[in-house]
Amino acid sequence: MSEKVLSILGSTGSIGVNALDVAGRFPGRYRIHALAARANIDRLGEQIETHRPAVAVVYDPDAADALRRRRPGGGRTAIRSGMDGLLEVATDPRVDQVVAGMVGAIGLRPAHAAILAGKQVALANKEVLVLAGELMVALARETGSVLLPVDSEHNAIYQCLNGSDGRAVRRILLTGSGGPFRDLPVESLASVTRSQALNHPNWKMGPKITIDSATMMNKGLEVIETRWLFDLPPDRISVLIHRQSIVHSLVEFVDGSVLAQLGLPDMRTPIAYCLAHPERLPLDLPRLDLAQVGRLDFQAVLPERYPCLFLALDALALGGGAPAVLNGANECVVAAYLDDAFPFARIAGILKQVMKSLESALGERNAPSFLRSIASVEDAIAADAWGRAAAKPLIEEARAA
Ligand code: MG
Repeated sequence: MSEKVLSILGSTGSIGVNALDVAGRFPGRYRIHALAARANIDRLGEQIETHRPAVAVVYDPDAADALRRRRPGGGRTAIRSGMDGLLEVATDPRVDQVVAGMVGAIGLRPAHAAILAGKQVALANKEVLVLAGELMVALARETGSVLLPVDSEHNAIYQCLNGSDGRAVRRILLTGSGGPFRDLPVESLASVTRSQALNHPNWKMGPKITIDSATMMNKGLEVIETRWLFDLPPDRISVLIHRQSIVHSLVEFVDGSVLAQLGLPDMRTPIAYCLAHPERLPLDLPRLDLAQVGRLDFQAVLPERYPCLFLALDALALGGGAPAVLNGANECVVAAYLDDAFPFARIAGILKQVMKSLESALGERNAPSFLRSIASVEDAIAADAWGRAAAKPLIEEARAA
């Protein structure tokens, strides 16, 4: 078995740390060519000592200088910085697979470059598909780049489909835990606290995505990703609340068969699937004991409880730059919410207003073209920025209230 060479973008974040955990269990099977981080040079320095990559990229140039002075790994790792550094390690001819584990629109250009270079891409950077899914998937088809979804739901779908023809699929069922407020009376959503919103019942994740789980915006963004990744029209993608986060998603086929992928909520399993593709790694992790789990519950989504999920579906129906606009606005609104700027229910309220302004902008003859269609990474970033700019005054207003 030949050694697989990896570039891990976002190595100090949770996807990167888990990817290194998995790869590190199989010395000789994986070689880490490059690690890339934004600015966390303490953790990156430790990772360099352990994994001895040929290159490390620190996006922030000052942090890159500081890391160079520390000479981690005896100075044998070349340290680069900025977007140029990211693009270099995403396209290096020695690299077989790029783990796109960065967070935010910043990850778009490196993922795009990796796709153009025909790499296998383990995709965890949501924005790649939310902001520019149609474009990225079309490019991957042209270059032969294989997109492997890391996110547990999409990874589950990928596994269930196992290369099946799209015509064999009736619909995809995306599961979501429903977050911490799934049992709360809808009226009480107005008075929830930030620490309640941050207390996810099943997964331990960063604060931004935990809030997105509480609003189910996260699931809405996942529907958008599903639409492009599996080339299925939105009316054939459903969302189902599943409390235990054991069934990671399901595929219903035209003959009535429904396949699901199950597992404990541990990101190392879908990451291992991507790293080993098309094989499987013998991973020694805690195993699913269904007798101990006892029951698996499912319920329909109540629209009043999760308005953000439906805003994402609206954005997908609008198409063009709308998902990018909503995503950019949501990032700003959630950041402000985490800053304790306004009550939880205002998140959806502000986003609803942003979508209204988008609809009226689209009604104008001279609307910017990136609102109507995303033809490049620059378009996607411009639409995302449009959403942020639209959210800003509304956030200020909510802060002042
Ligand atoms: Mg997910």
